[in-house]
Amino acid sequence: MCGVRGSTPAPGPEFVRYGGNTSCVAVAADNDLPSLVLDAGTGLQRLSRLMSGQPFRGSVLIGHLHWDHTHGIPFFPAGDNPGSKVTVYMPQQGDPEAVLERAISPPHFPITPKELRGEWSFHGLDEGEHEIEGFRVLAREIPHKGGRTFGYRVSDGARTMTYMSDHSPTSLGDGPDGLGEYHEAALALARDADVLIHDAQYTPEEFTIKRNFGHSAIDYAVTFARIAGVGRLLLFHHDPARTDDQLDAIVSHYRKAPVRVDAATEGMVLEL
Ligand SMILES: [Zn+2]
Ligand SMILES: [Zn+2]
Repeated sequence: MCGVRGSTPAPGPEFVRYGGNTSCVAVAADNDLPSLVLDAGTGLQRLSRLMSGQPFRGSVLIGHLHWDHTHGIPFFPAGDNPGSKVTVYMPQQGDPEAVLERAISPPHFPITPKELRGEWSFHGLDEGEHEIEGFRVLAREIPHKGGRTFGYRVSDGARTMTYMSDHSPTSLGDGPDGLGEYHEAALALARDADVLIHDAQYTPEEFTIKRNFGHSAIDYAVTFARIAGVGRLLLFHHDPARTDDQLDAIVSHYRKAPVRVDAATEGMVLEL
């Protein structure tokens, strides 16, 4: 877990235990170096330290193109490196490199993606099954807000991890409990996964005000994890205002939930 925060980084003493970097999860097969990265938020800075001095040679799967999921790209020394080979995938929507360049180019930023060192390529991804870096990857479109958003189901054939960082199930309707629909695409992504990493941006009080902001209520994530039959839920995309103490309280509130619930923590290592 290189970055677990949502929307914008959260530096400061109230956030050090769970971490302030935005979305980035690195995946490695067995004892290899990471070869697959989910999202390129500011947490991508941490990945270079995990590469044992080696350039990154692998793929980055971007769920959607909001700032908090791409801002790490130019701050990734193992990727911005003459020896790197970085294949970037994102939901198909126009020329992928040009779409990314709208955020990473002057006057918003000094350089464009083309100027990154090493061998970078940018690809639009369609929904469906893909083989990426030796993993089976299912990409499905899920509702969020502002641009096309994919959730990903990643499997090595034995273990499965589902990543749904930003998810707005109320965009499809109120659902049975008013927190949004438990819809087919979400269930296809998460069914029986060993681990589900899911948007958990809002408490119930916040959700009443912000139900149209493009994110999930924490209660939705927990109920969805139970319905999908996942082994373990990691609450993810913590609101930038959510302090460590508040996250502790949220996790202890769900201690007796029918599925194991933890809060994703920067630096956490999961062995599946
Ligand atoms: Zn986000
Ligand atoms: Zn977003």
